[in-house]
Amino acid sequence: MKIKVLGCSGAEFPGHNPPSFLLDGSIVFDAGSLTSVLPERAQLKIKHIFITHAHLDHVRDITFLADNIIVSGRQQQVSMISIPSVLETIRQNVLNDKLWPDFTIIPNYESAVLNYRAAQEGKAIRLNGYRITPVPVVHSVPAVGYLVEDGEGKSLFYTGDTGPTPGTWKYLGKRHLDALIIETSFPNKLADLAVKTGHLTASLLRGELQGLKVLPKRIYITHPKPQYQKIIESEIRKLGLRNISMLKDGQILRIE
Ligand SMILES: [Zn+2]
Ligand SMILES: [Zn+2]
Repeated sequence: MKIKVLGCSGAEFPGHNPPSFLLDGSIVFDAGSLTSVLPERAQLKIKHIFITHAHLDHVRDITFLADNIIVSGRQQQVSMISIPSVLETIRQNVLNDKLWPDFTIIPNYESAVLNYRAAQEGKAIRLNGYRITPVPVVHSVPAVGYLVEDGEGKSLFYTGDTGPTPGTWKYLGKRHLDALIIETSFPNKLADLAVKTGHLTASLLRGELQGLKVLPKRIYITHPKPQYQKIIESEIRKLGLRNISMLKDGQILRIE
């Protein structure tokens, strides 16, 4: 599987884009940076958006993508996939004909640009040869990470935003993950704030990794606050783990 990092930042500044990960061109995980990063041609290939949770930095570009599709005149339909409570938050607060038009009935219900597809925790969705399973994580709002397994036995887990989340590692059990994309939003000195807001620091990350029976082959850090990027990077380095690195916007991950 090939993943392009469209954005992997825990806040927005020039050159630091909110989270979005593009899998094989048509599937994305989180929608923080779709229209702000992808040219129109690439935007029009997106068919499925897996959403970890309804925070704005993970959903905002759904709105602009829908608008661009309508203007393109294409018959493109995009599924927003997540657990029901996340979809409900988007329905009530974003695509509510107040903050933004309800693109789930535009141009009409049958051929609407956007549709909701509810996923169940622990139940895999099969798509383009992948099994994609939402697994609950602990954040300040209902949230899931996604386990992505391809047909050749390769696997990736993307946490989205999470604080300490022992149940997630228990669920993953003895699985040998080829890659883990996990958040580390704050420096160690802001551990209290991290826990209160459902995020991790490097020290907390170490504890989380101890919850895994088998360390993933590669660990990629996402969602750092750019204001603390350098400190977080050095605290991650001090963990002394092999095959751990900070993600960069535009990076391509090949999990083969
Ligand atoms: Zn969040
Ligand atoms: Zn976030």
